[in-house]
Amino acid sequence: MLGLMQDWPLLCHKIIEHAAKYHGTREVVTRSVEGPIHRTNYAQIHARALKVSQSLERDGIKLGDRVATIAWNTWRHLEVWYGIMGIGAICHTVNPRLFPEQIAWIVNHAQDRIVITDLTFVPVLEKIASQLPSVERYVVLTDKAHMPQTTLKNAVVYEDWIAASDGKFEWKTFDENTAAAMCYTSGTTGDPKGVLYSHRSNVLHALMANSKDALGTSAADTMLPVVPLFHANSWGIAFSAPSMGTKLVMPGPKLDGASVYELLSTEKVTHTAGVPTVWLMLLQYMAANNVKLPDLQMVICGGSAMPRSMIKAFLDMGSQVRHAWGMTEMSPLGTLATLKPPFTERTGEERLDILQTQGYPPFGVEMKITDDAGKELPWDGKTFGRLKVSGPAIAKAYFHVDSNILDEEGYFDTGDVSTMDEHGYMRITDRSKDVIKSGGEWISSIDLENLAVGHPAVAEAAVIGVHHPKWDERPLLIVQLKQGESATREDILKFMDGKIAKWWMPDDVAFVDGIPHTATGKILKTALRDQFKDYTFPTAAA
Ligand code: ADP
Repeated sequence: MLGLMQDWPLLCHKIIEHAAKYHGTREVVTRSVEGPIHRTNYAQIHARALKVSQSLERDGIKLGDRVATIAWNTWRHLEVWYGIMGIGAICHTVNPRLFPEQIAWIVNHAQDRIVITDLTFVPVLEKIASQLPSVERYVVLTDKAHMPQTTLKNAVVYEDWIAASDGKFEWKTFDENTAAAMCYTSGTTGDPKGVLYSHRSNVLHALMANSKDALGTSAADTMLPVVPLFHANSWGIAFSAPSMGTKLVMPGPKLDGASVYELLSTEKVTHTAGVPTVWLMLLQYMAANNVKLPDLQMVICGGSAMPRSMIKAFLDMGSQVRHAWGMTEMSPLGTLATLKPPFTERTGEERLDILQTQGYPPFGVEMKITDDAGKELPWDGKTFGRLKVSGPAIAKAYFHVDSNILDEEGYFDTGDVSTMDEHGYMRITDRSKDVIKSGGEWISSIDLENLAVGHPAVAEAAVIGVHHPKWDERPLLIVQLKQGESATREDILKFMDGKIAKWWMPDDVAFVDGIPHTATGKILKTALRDQFKDYTFPTAAA
C-alpha cells in the first residue's frame, strides 16, 4: 500500500522560491569582481534567476543541456545557478584554478553549450576557446561599462543578456531525479571525473546540512562561504543558506586574510566555511594586526585536515570550530566533528582530541571501514581501513565513465584511510596513496603534519614517504617557516619528540620557501614527491 501524501518533487529551484517568499528581504552581500560591495536580497535573486532561465531558453538551452560557470562567489553566480537548474539544464561549475588544458578537457568532456564567466577569466578562455567546439556562446558576468573587448564567440554582457528577458516565466516541474549540477574532481591522478548531482540529492543534502549539528545556520544567522561555488558543490551552502533564509556574504575574488577579515567584521558574519589554507591566512592577518571577530560563532573547516593548533586558535578567540570531512562525490558533506554526550563535558586537551577528529556522519550518510579484501574492520579507534560510504547524496557512477564504482553492498570507496571509534567518530589517517609504509606498518602523514604545524615557527608542513633501503619508506617532513621566524631541523624534531610513537618520527626535515597546493587548496603531494625524487635520507646509509 502506498502512502497518501502529495507528490511534491524535491527540486532545487523550490529553495530559492521559498527564500524569495518567506525571506525576500534577507540580504546577499558581495565583494564584486569590479570592486565595490554590492547588496541585493533573495527576492531580487529569484526574480533575476527567472530572467536567466528565460534568456537560456531564448538561446536554445533545453532540459539536460550543460551550461558551465567559471566564476567567483557572487550574487550573479547564485542567480545563474538557480536559473540554469530551473529549466532542467545542468549547472556545471568549473574550477578556474585548474590549468587551461584541464579546463578545456573538462568543458569538452561535459559538452558545455554556454559558458558563463567572470571578467577575471576572459583572458584564459580566449586562449583556449578554439579548443572548445561545443561552446556556442560566452556570457560575461558584468555590466556594459565594465565589458572588455573580447574575441569570445557570441560574447554578451550578462546584465544586457538578462535585461532582454521580462522575467514573466514559470519554472518547470520535472522528475526529482533529473540532473541539476555537475562538478569534476580535481584529478590529481588520472583524468578528472564528473560527479552529476540530481535535484533530489541536492535538496536532501541541503536538509542534512541544515541540521544543528551540521552547518546549522538559521534565518537570524549570516554565512560567508569562502569555499567557492566551484569547489565540491560549495559544500551545499548555495542551497542550505537560502533554504533557511540565512543572510549570505559572498567574498568574490579576494580570499586573502585582510579581505576575508574585513567582510567577516563589517557584515557581522556568524558562520563561515573554508579550507585550512584560508583560515591560516586569516589567523595570520588577525594576529599581525591584533584584531578580533566578536560576532563570529562558527568556523567550519574541511577539504584537508584541520590542525590542532588552528582549532585552538579559533577557540581561544571565542568561536566554535566544526571540522568537516567530505568529498565532491558526497555532495560533499560526510562527517562533522560535533561534541555529543558523553564528550560535551570534556575540557582542555581532551575536548581538542574530539574536535580534531573528522567527526561522525549526519543522518543520510552510512560508513564502514574494510581491509583490501572488503572485510569489515572493527570500530576500535585504532584499526586503519579503507573508508566506504553510502547514502542518497553520494555518487553511484561518474558522468560518461563506464565502470562500477560501488561494492556489492552499494558502498563507494572514498580512497581515504581512516579509523572509526566505538562512538562513530571517524579519523582520517591518510589518502590511501599518501600513507607511509614503513617496515610493513602504516604511518599517518596527516598526523605528523598536524603535529609539526603546532611548532610556533612553522607556517605549513607536509610529510611524504621517501624510499629507505631498510624500511621501504620513511617519513620526510617538509616545512615552510613563518615569515621572519627561524627554527632548525633539531628544534622541530625535539618539539615532536614524545608526542608520537618513536618509530613515527620523521627521519629528516627539509625546509622549502613554499608548499605547492592543488586547485582546491590541498597539499600537492605529487609535486613534492617529484621535487624530492632524488633525495636520500642521512639514515639511509646506516
Ligand atoms: P578534490 O578531489 O577536487 O580536491 P574533494 O573535496 O572532493 O576535492 O576532495 C575530497 C578529499 O579531500 C577527501 O577524500 C579527503 O582525502 C580530503 N579531505 C576532505 N576533508 C578532509 C578533512 N577534514 N581531513 C582530511 N582530509 C580531508
